[in-house]
Amino acid sequence: MAYTYDPKNIFAKILTGEIPNKTVLETEHSLAFRDIYPQAPVHVLVIPKGAYVCYDHFAQEASDAEILDFNRVIGEVCRMEGLEAGGYRVISNAGRDGVQEVPHLHVHILAGRPLGRMLA
Ligand code: 5GP
Repeated sequence: MAYTYDPKNIFAKILTGEIPNKTVLETEHSLAFRDIYPQAPVHVLVIPKGAYVCYDHFAQEASDAEILDFNRVIGEVCRMEGLEAGGYRVISNAGRDGVQEVPHLHVHILAGRPLGRMLA
């Protein structure tokens, strides 16, 4: 499948600094920042700096270093926010059925309240 990345999406603008963000952690390949409309007491988004639309795109075209860094940052944010004890949820919405609003790969880290069995 050919992936079309929109370089004007909101997270691309966050990466260029055009739109400000509340950064939690930044590395060579990834950025973690607070969601502007938090759905839980802790709601952090983690994005790769590369131009990837969704997870399958990332898995196909990203380097091992990018994939490793992205996953490390997700775990590191959970640790930094002290989420080990109470638990947390990591989800990534993709495409139409996943109701993905911003077409730049991101995972949501949610915590700080009981999250229910599913996040519908
Ligand atoms: P999606 O539905 O694509 O998985 O989630 C996109 C998320 O991005 C939503 O939770 C939304 O609140 C968040 N979001 C949208 N615009 C901005 C923004 O300008 N700044 C930040 N920090 N988050 C945003």
